[in-house]
Amino acid sequence: MSGENVPNDLREPLQEKILADYPRLGPDDTFRFSCQPGISCFNKCCGDVNIFLSPYDVLRMKRRLGMSSGDFLAKYALMPVQKDMRTPVVVLRMNDDQTKTCPFLTDQGCGIYSDRPWPCRMYPLGLASQKDTPDGWRGDRFYFLLQEKVCKGFDEPREWTVREWFDDQGIDEYDEWGEAFKELTLHKFFEEGGVLSPEKMAMLFTACYDVDKFREFVFGSTLLERFEVDEDFVEEMRYSDEALLRFAFLWLRFSLFGEPTVKVKEHVAEAFKGKLDKKELFGTKSAKGLEEETR
Ligand code: SF4
Ligand code: SF4
Repeated sequence: MSGENVPNDLREPLQEKILADYPRLGPDDTFRFSCQPGISCFNKCCGDVNIFLSPYDVLRMKRRLGMSSGDFLAKYALMPVQKDMRTPVVVLRMNDDQTKTCPFLTDQGCGIYSDRPWPCRMYPLGLASQKDTPDGWRGDRFYFLLQEKVCKGFDEPREWTVREWFDDQGIDEYDEWGEAFKELTLHKFFEEGGVLSPEKMAMLFTACYDVDKFREFVFGSTLLERFEVDEDFVEEMRYSDEALLRFAFLWLRFSLFGEPTVKVKEHVAEAFKGKLDKKELFGTKSAKGLEEETR
């Protein structure tokens, strides 16, 4: 089990400290760590932590629990609203008791182990990246060790490379989805000072995190009449949450930032030629539509 939290998006000033002070690990660097039942600190780390959830974390967990995304978010997530927040934040809700343990913790360890979220897989590794490199956040990323005091895993003899840890914890799959999500949350629109309207923020949240509600929107509105989407892919979206999330990311990049990630059907584009700004038609209007048509 690896239950300590590593925020998906390390925030300042913590990020500044990490960039300045922490030893940087690359894929072939090694560290000593082991975590298993029997260790004296077993289960002591899965409580009172802020675990930031990505859309893919929510998708995996709600499916594991056999719940709709809406029910999962209502029961297990907190969506703190902060001033200056540019994109939605979703945090795993700890139990409302003195110890504030994770709701998925059992005597045997994590009760959703094979679907545990990214931060729980990563621990004891954290991820940091420089934003001010020429190619942005992708430019200079590195890993570092988060040594929580309670954790005795560092006293164990087992040695890993970062690469081996990733393979063991199944992190690559999560990272691929994480990268796709960052195409939205770290978009240059935000770096250039852009701010989403409350409607667009709601659209971003719903399409990314409430995948079942987004499915209702996709199949219950005129959206598919307006965009060219491969027929097989449309069918896949009916039953595959992953396909739907992939479409959500592409559609949001189009709707929010005007990127050519989905293609407007020719007759629709023709009908609006010269009459309306494309972003206005498919951005603001779509956000309203998403709210109204899924209500
Ligand atoms: S999801 Fe599992 S590993 Fe993560 S904090 Fe909860 S019990 Fe621990
Ligand atoms: S070794 Fe570390 S990660 Fe494992 S249970 Fe103990 S505190 Fe948690």
